[in-house]
Amino acid sequence: MKKTIRDIDVKGKTVFLRVDFNVPLKDGMIRDERRVISSLPTIEYLREQGAKLVLASHLGKPKGADPQLSLEPVAKRLSELLEAPVLFHSSKEVVDDKIREMVGAMEEGQVLLLENTRYDAGETKNDPVLAEKFASLADIFVDDAFGTAHRAHSSNYGVAELLPRKVSGFLIEKELKYFYDALENPQRPFLAILGGAKVSDKIKVIENLLEKVDEIIVGGAMAYTFMRAMGHSIGDSLVEEDQVDFAKKMLSLAEEKRIPFHLPLDFATAPAYEDVVPVFTKGRDIAPGTMGLDIGPRSIEAFTEVIKRAKTILWNGPLGVFEMKNFEAGTRAIAEAMAENQGITIIGGGDSAAAVTEMGFDEKMSHISTGGGASLELLEGKELPGIAILEEK
Ligand code: AMP
Repeated sequence: MKKTIRDIDVKGKTVFLRVDFNVPLKDGMIRDERRVISSLPTIEYLREQGAKLVLASHLGKPKGADPQLSLEPVAKRLSELLEAPVLFHSSKEVVDDKIREMVGAMEEGQVLLLENTRYDAGETKNDPVLAEKFASLADIFVDDAFGTAHRAHSSNYGVAELLPRKVSGFLIEKELKYFYDALENPQRPFLAILGGAKVSDKIKVIENLLEKVDEIIVGGAMAYTFMRAMGHSIGDSLVEEDQVDFAKKMLSLAEEKRIPFHLPLDFATAPAYEDVVPVFTKGRDIAPGTMGLDIGPRSIEAFTEVIKRAKTILWNGPLGVFEMKNFEAGTRAIAEAMAENQGITIIGGGDSAAAVTEMGFDEKMSHISTGGGASLELLEGKELPGIAILEEK
């Protein structure tokens, strides 16, 4: 267990708070502010406790200072949400003399947001000079940016190495609680649902989860590589030929361990990768000249039954091309069945989190992760550097 902001005294101290304000921007407007909202409990708590807050985040992948990727709009929005001023000064140096002066003059409960940490090319290289500049501003490091916890960068790792105290905020605490409880001590049956584009992205996830779960469902484009491994015809569907052997190995491992490995029973197909009215296959074989773009109704029915009996469900990756209206039914059905489940329901970050939120099921899930890459690495059983560096309880 990692220490959190509840375990330390922050009164009168300057806290370097790494948040994840990597939000989608369009014409200077924030298109999805969920990440800003999820940082509020930590910010508000630290203000109430009398800390001075220096917030840092990256935004996109700028090559040097790029006004299109300035955090200024986020500072404005944060100020509205907090109903308090948020100090901001844009500088390509991120930490310059003006920032030092502003931080030096801060009072308890005040908030300052630094400019996009990636304006400095050193950030993603965990440059010690940049880390030193961050550390020189503060007494305590607090990390609440789960989305970057799988990376060791200056603003979430280098700076932590240099400060005497380093703990997590409420968001990281919540992320870790759900993932560790599910992976180490789940209410059983524990079901994993995996979808998405590539088997190769999820090799380690499948291997690791087969050590933990009671049942597994695999859908999405990944399923065709498994279909190929089982000798079915897959038409023009996406397939990774170099993963067919791995798929075979996983199927026999699941059989050995007596873990039911549920694959789609039928598919929604189209002649091309286009949003047209689907043709459903009768079984698992897909006709030449067509490709599978979603699971079919029999699969939906079967998967829904599996979901009903599970007490812990972890889902990562859409079951079909949910971005297309005609091929979102599989992903929607899984989201709906999970929403109705009274057990623990966890959505890995990225596409499945976006799908669940767009479809309006977000309130019904126990936890929707804010980190796609970070949650996948947790599922692979890896230790995340940004978490490892924090103090143990
Ligand atoms: P990932 O980033 O691995 O989670 O993959 C998500 C992507 O997989 C989404 O953009 C889906 O459109 C895509 N996907 C899911 N099922 C299929 C499928 N049957 N054929 C092609 N793409 C798919």
